[in-house]
This record gives sequence, C-alpha cells and structure tokens, in this order.
Amino acid sequence: MTFDDLGLAQPILRAIREQGYEIPTPIQAQAIPAVLAGGDLLAGAQTGTGKTAGFTLPLLHRLAAGQPAKDSRGRYAIRALILTPTRELAAQVEESVRTYGKHLSLKSMVMFGGVGMGPQIAQLKRGVDILVATPGRLLDHHQQGMLDLTQVEFFVLDEADRMLDMGFVHDIKKVLAMLPPKKQSLLFSATFSPEIKALADRLLNAPQVIEV
Ligand code: AMP
Repeated sequence: MTFDDLGLAQPILRAIREQGYEIPTPIQAQAIPAVLAGGDLLAGAQTGTGKTAGFTLPLLHRLAAGQPAKDSRGRYAIRALILTPTRELAAQVEESVRTYGKHLSLKSMVMFGGVGMGPQIAQLKRGVDILVATPGRLLDHHQQGMLDLTQVEFFVLDEADRMLDMGFVHDIKKVLAMLPPKKQSLLFSATFSPEIKALADRLLNAPQVIEV
C-alpha cells in the first residue's frame, strides 16, 4: 500500500513526498481510512509508530474539504482541538500539522503553560483552525473567555494514558464539557487500563478500534 491509495488530497500527498515518506506505517494504514470515513477511533499505539501522521493527515484532509467555522461574533472559530499531556508533545504535534499542512491554508497554533498568555491571546484573535494544547493552559484561556470551542468538529486526545498518569482526568472532563456533542473524536493511548476504557466510553461513539 502507498499513501496514494489512501484517498488523501493532493496538497497533503505532496507534503508527504517532500518529507520522504514512501509507505504508510501500520497505524497510518489503518487510522487514515478510519478517520477519513468520519467515525470515532480508539487507537492503541506507542510513540515512534507514526501515530502523529496517522491522525494529522486525515484531519487536515477533512478540514481542507470543509468550510471555515465562525463563532457567535462572526470570527473564525477553532475547528480541531488536539490535547496532549506535555508541552514538548504539543510542540511536536503542531510542527507535524504545519509540515503536513504546508500546502493548505489552514492555521494552526500550539498553546501551553509556562509562557505569557498575551501572545497566545493575540494569535487566537488572528484566527486558528487547529489548536494543539495542553489541558491546563487551555482551561486558563477558556476561563478568561478567550476561547470558543463550540464549533469544534474534530477532537483528538493524544497519549491519553500519560494524561491520566499526570492527573489530568478532571481537566479532560472539563474540556469535554466545552465541546459540542456532535464531533469526530479520536483517542490514542499506548495502554488500555480500565480508566482509559472508561474515558473512551464517555468520549467515543461506536469507535473503530485499532491496535498496532
Ligand atoms: P510518531 O510516532 O508520530 O512520533 O512518528 C515517529 C517518526 O516517524 C517521526 O519522526 C515521523 O517523521 C516518522 N514517520 C511517520 N510516518 C512515517 C512514514 N510513513 N514513513 C517514514 N517515516 C515516518
């Protein structure tokens, strides 16, 4: 199987070629068609398996095929939210979004704590399609009324097991409550504890399950 067989748009295939990727990894071969089909996904995958491209590539495709969203004040609204446990992972994931989306005109942003809120607020005001964030800072912005997540169409919980290990379960539940009920959700986790299964039950609707 090649990337061309997966049904991704040409600007995305071009970015993949420029990265030098030739064949999809096993998680990509399964996750990309599943996400393109529009359903929820529960994926068991470790770091290093290519899981990031496994969700960012089909997400970019779906976003590029749709329309920009507007919030209640007529401003462009966030369409995809990717939550990660750490700043480092958030930065890496957003870098991947930029790389694979470089021939598309979608705007992405990374948001994490330990840096000033001001520049993040300014960037939010300029419009963001894809937000990659850690839970704490996301909640800070939301509490200040700077963040409208009511138009989110795609939600990804990356490394969900690490998030729970780091004590983010309450933060995750708060974030879930801010999202609209109708959305496509993807949960990635290296392990499947009873806690992860409970979270998956709460978040996902008849998910396709893949494990590599
Ligand atoms: P990840 O598991 O998402 O952290 O990805 C691990 C590494 O694999 C990253 O450095 C990617 O750039 C690389 N990678 C992802 N997909 C492919 C692919 N299909 N072919 C070659 N390298 C890849």
